Amino acid sequence: MKILEDKILAEGRILPGPVLKVSSFLNHQMDADLIMELGKELADRFRADGVTKILTIESSGIAIAVAVGAALHVPVLFAKKHRTSNVSGVLYQTLVHSYTHGTDYTVVVEREYLKADDRVLIIDDFLANGKAVEGLLDLSAQAGAAVVGAGIVIEKGFQDGGAQLRASGLRVESLAIVDSMDENGIVFRES
Ligand code: 5GP
Repeated sequence: MKILEDKILAEGRILPGPVLKVSSFLNHQMDADLIMELGKELADRFRADGVTKILTIESSGIAIAVAVGAALHVPVLFAKKHRTSNVSGVLYQTLVHSYTHGTDYTVVVEREYLKADDRVLIIDDFLANGKAVEGLLDLSAQAGAAVVGAGIVIEKGFQDGGAQLRASGLRVESLAIVDSMDENGIVFRES
């Protein structure tokens, strides 16, 4: 999506990891107009799929998830980070490895908000190794809910999360796919 690629080129910073820092418009300060536009584009791509629920993970996925939920007029559920993995039967829980922090953490959703008759659209800001999306797939599977696909703002195509998820049969839609980023600049995949 051209406006997103232009914004990344203008304001994105490459950090060790490699991590693409987009804190000026997505991950810290947020460009609300742009995020609403990105959300509308993701919503349009999944509009025919009978989505009943948006599922994301706190905290950086929430803004884009709300934008998609507003465009599709469906509730937005975010998996919460939980201090302990020893939780009661009212929750679904799963373990996620954090790309940016290098640690594992438990996320939970309350069972009453994710049901077997839900058609879930997973939304996140970034896709790298796919662990966050895998965690959200696991929560959906525990609930018996169908997942129609995953909508991502920025996919790092040089990491294998996207390829693995697509190979497993999941539909993954990314608004920008970064094929390389280094001292020579950022290269996007042709869409
Ligand atoms: P994955 O679970 O696919 O390995 O990583 C995705 C998660 O890690 C996203 O929820 C996002 O918060 C974070 N993340 C991964 N790579 C980047 C990156 O390059 N920049 C930023 N800002 N976050 C990232």
